[in-house]
Amino acid sequence: MDWAESHDSRFDRFVLGNAPLKRLATGFDWVEGPVWFGDADCLLFSDIPNNRILRWNHETGVSTYRAPSNFANGHTRDREGRLVSCEHGTRRVTRTELDGTVTVIADGFGGKRLNSPNDVVVKSDGTIWFSDPHYGISMDYEGALADQELPCVVYRVDPATGAMDVAVDDMNCPNGLAFSPDERLLYAADTGRIFSEDPQHMRVYDVTDTGTTNGRDFFKVDAGISDGFRLDEDGNIWSSAGDGVHCISPEGVLLGKVLVPETVSNVCFGGRSRHVLFITATTSIYSIALNRRGAARPMK
Ligand code: MG
Repeated sequence: MDWAESHDSRFDRFVLGNAPLKRLATGFDWVEGPVWFGDADCLLFSDIPNNRILRWNHETGVSTYRAPSNFANGHTRDREGRLVSCEHGTRRVTRTELDGTVTVIADGFGGKRLNSPNDVVVKSDGTIWFSDPHYGISMDYEGALADQELPCVVYRVDPATGAMDVAVDDMNCPNGLAFSPDERLLYAADTGRIFSEDPQHMRVYDVTDTGTTNGRDFFKVDAGISDGFRLDEDGNIWSSAGDGVHCISPEGVLLGKVLVPETVSNVCFGGRSRHVLFITATTSIYSIALNRRGAARPMK
């Protein structure tokens, strides 16, 4: 298993000796935002600089899901299974309805435009939480250069009422987000302002009714950044990093790494039993079958 690097004996049970790390497709520019659609047996992901959302299926390979995508980045699904997307180009978060029409969930706060929503998660109460760093408006590569009107924070939106609150406001540039399986904790990565010396670490917060409290530093990967991450059913965090995917225990111990030959941006669990880790990494997408299952979201 040349792709596994164990740092703790617990990790040895998570990986399988006969499961290959597979490069599923390549030739993209910068891929992020993987989300699994078990009902359609496919993975959706963003090729941000090429302004498109792509679809991968094990029988048919890669096809275009949406182009132009308004430079979409992170995706997730809401409680009804609808696609929720962050768009750099239009500086908004949208929901794709079951008939294909697109509903704007959030595009501003206090009369000002959002920066460039990056990553998004949906809580079991239906609220949508997203990070709004400035990366997509800092240059023309992953969106369009534009003035920043708002600080880089994490928002919580209730699509039922339209109520919107700032959920995290103590970061330079929030990026990846994920709830713990019981939704009592929100993990959020601060990846720092572009071209700065800002700290780049994952933090964890206690979740309240309208946001978070008690933020504290949680973990810093020793290669690259925690751009995006997802949790397994025991609460281990599978985080992107410069050398692959790092598996971190809820106590903040590095258990092991899945070594990937390209810088990883994001991951998601999918497949028949949520036991396959899909990895977006620079120009390619990869998968690895694990002896782990991704966290199932608690029901309402
Ligand atoms: Mg990101």
